[in-house]
Amino acid sequence: MRSEEHRENILDLLPEELETAVSELGEKKFRASQIFGWLAKGVVCFDDMKNIPAVLRAGLAERYYIGIPEAVRRQESKDGTVKCLFEFADGTQVESVFMKYEYGNSICISSQSGCRMGCTFCASTMDGLDRSLSGGEMLAQVLAMRNLTGEDIGHVVVMGMGEPFDNYIQLSRFIRLIHDRKGYDLGLRNITVSTCGLIPKIREFAVDFPQVNLAVSLHAPNQKLREKTMPVARKYGYEELLRACREYTEITGRRITFEYAVIDGVNDSTECAEELASKLKGWLSHVNLIPLNEVRGREYKTANGKSVASFKKILEKNGVAVTVRRTLGSDIDAACGQLRRKK
Ligand code: SF4
Repeated sequence: MRSEEHRENILDLLPEELETAVSELGEKKFRASQIFGWLAKGVVCFDDMKNIPAVLRAGLAERYYIGIPEAVRRQESKDGTVKCLFEFADGTQVESVFMKYEYGNSICISSQSGCRMGCTFCASTMDGLDRSLSGGEMLAQVLAMRNLTGEDIGHVVVMGMGEPFDNYIQLSRFIRLIHDRKGYDLGLRNITVSTCGLIPKIREFAVDFPQVNLAVSLHAPNQKLREKTMPVARKYGYEELLRACREYTEITGRRITFEYAVIDGVNDSTECAEELASKLKGWLSHVNLIPLNEVRGREYKTANGKSVASFKKILEKNGVAVTVRRTLGSDIDAACGQLRRKK
């Protein structure tokens, strides 16, 4: 729980913890549900909680603060994408991106400020890990973005700065917070978590949250190539990762998404596509080809449209479900981590 001087962020409290907090202030437990509901609406001060007695509002304000971050930088794309650099009370900054899709509005949130995974194509990791976020701070990004855009947000992707499974306990709390019916009430199937491949947590996640979507950043068709761009591959090998992913589909009965950023001259060849297809053939999986968001200070270039199309064709020919991610926000600093570095 992050504190603002001596106070704690009330957004971090699960409903049962809020009940305890309310009881400690000498009030009836049902007040906790009302407060939880107000918080999910995105109120920024206790006095906005109209049906809460003034004495309780004052008691809450003495012990807690509402940790909605401030948007210190904001970029809007012509296609409706809004990218924000949010700053929390202690000065920690993270990025969140609001996107409009045909199926509804979505937000990509961060689970950490910075990242220690070291993927060589990524801006978020260039200054290492600042700190992990709490569950309430993950929720707060959704609330702040909804307040800012005035738009409903029905899908959440934990794919911004940070490795969510490197912060598993707080990620779990976030899922419980945003899913709770008394609060934001977001369906578990409307949440996607993306990992770079921390195998033990993939197994844990399959058991804990079988209805939440899982995306695994693969970005290569074999160990040798994966090691070049993703240091995590040295700890968790390619074949072992695929085994864990297969287990995931067996435990959950759900398809898994593999993210594949197509990088010019690195992993976009016909041989790469064929090797990937041979490994994923017959799986309950889906490959998401992502035109790389180029990052200042990194030498990687996105693969051209022609090689992405031929990569896709090879996967399709082998019966592997594949889509190319629509490029949103291409006129702004869409690559995660760039806004925070742009001082
Ligand atoms: S791609 Fe994800 S896991 Fe890899 S360094 Fe960037 S934020 Fe971390």
